[in-house]
Amino acid sequence: MARHRSGTAVAVTLAFLLPGLGLGAGSAALAGTSGTSASAGQGCFAGARTLSRLGDHVYPDTGNGGYTSLHTNVDLVYDATTNRFLRGNHVILTDRATHCLTSFSLDFERRSTANVSIGPDMRVRSVTVNGARASFRFVQPTYPGDPNGPNDPNPLAHEASENNPVGGPQHNPLPPACSPELKSTSFAKRNSQNGEQCPANKLVITPAAAIANRSVFTVRVNYTGRPGVHTDGDGTTEGWFRSDKPRGDGGFVTTEPVGTEDWMPLNDHPSAKPTYDFDDTVTAGRTVLANGILESRTKHAPDAKFPHGSVTWRWHMASPVASYLVEDSVGHFNLTQRMVDGIPFYEAQASSLSAARQKKNLAIMNKQPDITRFESKFNGPYPFGSDGVVVGRPSASFEEEMETMITFAGGEIDTDTLYHENMHQWWGDHVTEANYNLTFYKEGMATLGEFLYHARLAQHAAGGPGRAAGRRAFQRSLVKRFNGLYKSKGGFWTIAPSNPTPYSLFDEDSTYARPGITYVALRQILGHANFVRALTQLQRQYGGGVITEAQLEAGFRRWLPNRSAACGARLGQFFTQWFDTAYPRGGGANRPQITGPGLAGPGFYGAGGCTR
Ligand SMILES: [Zn+2]
Repeated sequence: MARHRSGTAVAVTLAFLLPGLGLGAGSAALAGTSGTSASAGQGCFAGARTLSRLGDHVYPDTGNGGYTSLHTNVDLVYDATTNRFLRGNHVILTDRATHCLTSFSLDFERRSTANVSIGPDMRVRSVTVNGARASFRFVQPTYPGDPNGPNDPNPLAHEASENNPVGGPQHNPLPPACSPELKSTSFAKRNSQNGEQCPANKLVITPAAAIANRSVFTVRVNYTGRPGVHTDGDGTTEGWFRSDKPRGDGGFVTTEPVGTEDWMPLNDHPSAKPTYDFDDTVTAGRTVLANGILESRTKHAPDAKFPHGSVTWRWHMASPVASYLVEDSVGHFNLTQRMVDGIPFYEAQASSLSAARQKKNLAIMNKQPDITRFESKFNGPYPFGSDGVVVGRPSASFEEEMETMITFAGGEIDTDTLYHENMHQWWGDHVTEANYNLTFYKEGMATLGEFLYHARLAQHAAGGPGRAAGRRAFQRSLVKRFNGLYKSKGGFWTIAPSNPTPYSLFDEDSTYARPGITYVALRQILGHANFVRALTQLQRQYGGGVITEAQLEAGFRRWLPNRSAACGARLGQFFTQWFDTAYPRGGGANRPQITGPGLAGPGFYGAGGCTR
């Protein structure tokens, strides 16, 4: 994700520092509140209603346990003129049980309590499990790890907060059950809603009969109404943005971190990565843009639902997609496709944009194959079967790396951000963060993508990669970038990248720039060739799944030129300083010393260092 606006928050972390937030390998599905865990083993019990762990305070309500998400069929029946899902609109989720299930949950914000004008207003009509009618209800989330279980009668167990503990007017000592939906983006007001009750966005489904452990089952949710946007823990909005240019155009979907549940029910956690098929029937004349490959487009004659006719667009996405990367925009778009290096590149933009603007946008969109080739030199082969860009009209507050279909809002695209979002196809999309607090890991890599772009420009100006002067210019550009940011004072060092609050989750300093120059330093420590080996190996090892902080760091450690225990420990210290430590305003004397300033810091270079 990349923010439009410059207004970087002046952030001071007030979060309760919890060391070691990274999830252990594959432990996400085991975490959380199982309710009757005493009966675990051969017994049947309810699936956990969160994938977070005790103390997590960044969207701790999201994700659901007791099953693994395998595949999702999205079958929208969408009237673009009224922005409504009609009868017949549904999703079919295919899951595999990880224990015998008496009930399980999904995330679905059917109605917004924070924003009634552009928030969703939907209704679940019915739910079936393996074709049989199932009962369902909406409940509030409970803080992860609550020993009293998910139905804890204590109202304090269901409160929102930016922090752990909740605090708020009642000085609630418990961890938060969800993140506030802030009515303001103001830093001063970030804690103003701590202690409010969480909305009932957990859709608990009870099938007619228990679901056997390890069995694959399908859940069909039929729902209608108006999709909308979620209001985040930093006061911004994301989800299904109404597009009304031209009038009755459709919807523009850009959803990080949790807004997908504002237009469809799902297992809304980055670690849940099913594959997707989309069969969307929409008002005639509209284009549907989703992840993957466009397989077909079928026109239908007018009927009772669509008096002027309709069209069904079928998209197929064979690779897993994290919850916040599902794309499904509908509207008047000009859509074209170019085949380059055997990859279809989709180019879509709102057809209501002026011809001059579309021409300008297209010139930048046409760079995507070249950008992909360039970024492949660092990351390894492009991981998906297609790539693409959609430029929509609504002024969403950010651009986003939707898997294989990058969204640009406000009718404009720029090259810097295209390098950023395209880099995410490897980092975030193919290899996804295991939890929200690791957002810095992939935003840092995408920021590195922007740094590499500018280094490439400098290299080009100095004669290109084939010339020694060009290679020197490339290196100089990266060192200059590192030094410029390393000198940063103010709030630059005050938030540990791995310990954000919902308010600081997309902080320009701690989530983007600081991890961005960390990777520049890592390239210096490992050497360019080993850095590239580390990146390509991480892609091979974790592609299609998720990565924890420990796994990320181990992936770099294995390519240290000097593999002594002392140098491994030195690199561990480097990661602790750069990723996990909050420093005083201005950075203070103890801000990261290894490799900085000038990328010539002690410990890694020179005699007795770890670079040889
Ligand atoms: Zn990003």
